[in-house]
Amino acid sequence: SLVITGATGQLGRLVVESLLARGTAATDIVATGRSVGKLADFAARGVTVAELDYTKPETVAAVVRPGDTLLLVSGSEVGQRASQHATVIAAAKEAGVARIVYTSAPAATTSALVLAPEHKSTEEALVASGVPFTILRNGWYTENYAGEVEKGRENGAIVASVGDGRVASASRKDYAEAAAVVLVDEGHEGEVYELSGDVAWSFDELAAAISDIVGREVVYTRLTPEDHATLLASFGLDEGTVGFVVALDGNIRDGLLGVTTGDLARLIGRPTTPLAEGLAGA
Ligand code: NDP
Repeated sequence: SLVITGATGQLGRLVVESLLARGTAATDIVATGRSVGKLADFAARGVTVAELDYTKPETVAAVVRPGDTLLLVSGSEVGQRASQHATVIAAAKEAGVARIVYTSAPAATTSALVLAPEHKSTEEALVASGVPFTILRNGWYTENYAGEVEKGRENGAIVASVGDGRVASASRKDYAEAAAVVLVDEGHEGEVYELSGDVAWSFDELAAAISDIVGREVVYTRLTPEDHATLLASFGLDEGTVGFVVALDGNIRDGLLGVTTGDLARLIGRPTTPLAEGLAGA
């Protein structure tokens, strides 16, 4: 079977949908999450659903059968993920998993991206486990900018400290389809894919795309990192969050999320979803 973790979340849900759309039998799919109730619609369609909690290895042992392929969707509890993912990898190995597919981050093992360390640690645990693997280094989701659309609508401006940095984003659905492809098709064992959108757009282009959606002029206001931090603090964000957001913008300024490899389009056999379309559907 194909065991999908994080199927209660946005990406995992789309992976299950992509598998079904590509012809995988519902009975070959095990959709898992912490709140099985959120998976009722899949159960109604014949998909097996089960609890799988990254902090509870016994839940992995109860679900994974020898020969299964496991999609480990990176968790959402930043700071706890390295140990959670290591727990899942060890328990899945013990259960006889045939391959683990992991959703990582761009250039995870070498990148200065603030989010990279937990992904680096997970990739290293996966390689060290000896379990056959495929690593999907997912770039930024276009949906991350849904909030900017609303800000553009309200204020006619989006503010950031990314300078002229570019982002090669793609829609969640694009990444989900890629996951479905490497889960089902042969030949992806041992591969590390750098997945991103076909186009690296600038924040001026983001503002223009938002302008078209909301029907008013929207401009990108460039802030220095210092002014950005001051602005975020004035909204009541705590120091840690402010530092994180400003550091991420620095990462974008440095081009860490702007790399276009074509891997994603190649895997899914079509161009990635354009920015304007992805934003409109977000
Ligand atoms: P969601 O927050 O929608 O989903 C996260 C999923 O992870 C949920 O199903 C959640 O389950 C599950 N999860 C979290 N912690 C645990 C745990 N301890 N045990 C079991 N399951 C757990 O995120 P997305 O689907 O949008 O994105 C998937 C992942 O991609 C994120 O978790 C994050 O690691 C990463 N990400 C990437 C971004 C990008 O731009 N590339 C942006 C944002 C996140 P539950 O429903 O029980 O909470």
